[in-house]
Amino acid sequence: MTLLETEPGMSRAWMDYALQLREVLKECGVATRPCLPDERDDCGQDYAHHCMSYLAALKAKADNALWHMHHGQPGGERLAKDLYEHWERTFAHDSS
Ligand SMILES: [Zn+2]
Repeated sequence: MTLLETEPGMSRAWMDYALQLREVLKECGVATRPCLPDERDDCGQDYAHHCMSYLAALKAKADNALWHMHHGQPGGERLAKDLYEHWERTFAHDSS
């Protein structure tokens, strides 16, 4: 058995998710270091840790973009809040 199969945060599923999230970040203009396990700048954290970090980055990026879109617009803050709550309800029962 390899490390990939024995460490929960190192599963193939976590690895695939981390790579997908990194691509999304790249599409959003967010640069990341090549620091996943076995990459050039391997930081020592597992794939699951990187997924959490990438999701946090996406959330911060989205929060920042939403704020800039509604800032100073009449009703903009309310609209952004309503839309956010719509998506929260949509994802309420997702486990991933
Ligand atoms: Zn890293």
